[in-house]
Amino acid sequence: MKNIIFIALPAAGKGTQSKMLVDKYDFIHISTGDLLRNAINANTELSLKIAETINKGNLVPDEIINNLLVNKLKEIKNKRFILDGYPRNLSQAHYLEKILADNYWVINLKIDYQQAIDRIINRRICPKCNRVYNLSINALKPKKDNICDICQHELVARKDDNLEVVKKRIANTIENIQELLDYYQKNGKLKTINGNDDYNKIFYKIEKLLEE
Ligand code: AMP
Repeated sequence: MKNIIFIALPAAGKGTQSKMLVDKYDFIHISTGDLLRNAINANTELSLKIAETINKGNLVPDEIINNLLVNKLKEIKNKRFILDGYPRNLSQAHYLEKILADNYWVINLKIDYQQAIDRIINRRICPKCNRVYNLSINALKPKKDNICDICQHELVARKDDNLEVVKKRIANTIENIQELLDYYQKNGKLKTINGNDDYNKIFYKIEKLLEE
């Protein structure tokens, strides 16, 4: 079974699909956003710089994120993984090409600009177990208002999920995404899936892809 790289606008459903894949198969989910948030919590010299960059909606310098990624890949050894949030630009794609074997699919979960905005504004996370909810998608609403189904903790919005920052993050992504898609189209790795479909249908399509 191949590794998976998700390339999509924020809130396209990468996190939800990753969780379903981890639950059913033995993938390791590597979210570079999570790696960075962990780096912020670790309170090192870099933490402040990373937090400032993320909270403004900008991309963290390649050098920082490349290091975090390489360390994570070493840590998981040869296990299969899902890469969520990387590469974000062509130079990261080139870097990945150097450190990765050829066995991966790039999945583009396609949603449009306005949908990405609506979904992000309605996204809530549990700060304790990191489970992600969405108030605009019936299947992803918490059972009790604003309370995590699993650990009963109060849900919060991510700090960078406010409208102004969201617009910047989406603009950054749109700017870079097309050249990434062109790149993976050319090397034959790209598969596009409609991100508006029901999440079970999307999962089914990904499973079919993994059989190839
Ligand atoms: P995410 O959780 O994927 O939405 O990422 C949250 C934020 O982390 C992004 O808005 C960026 O500021 C930063 N980030 C995540 N992945 C990358 C990456 N591959 N390169 C640069 N910055 C990143």
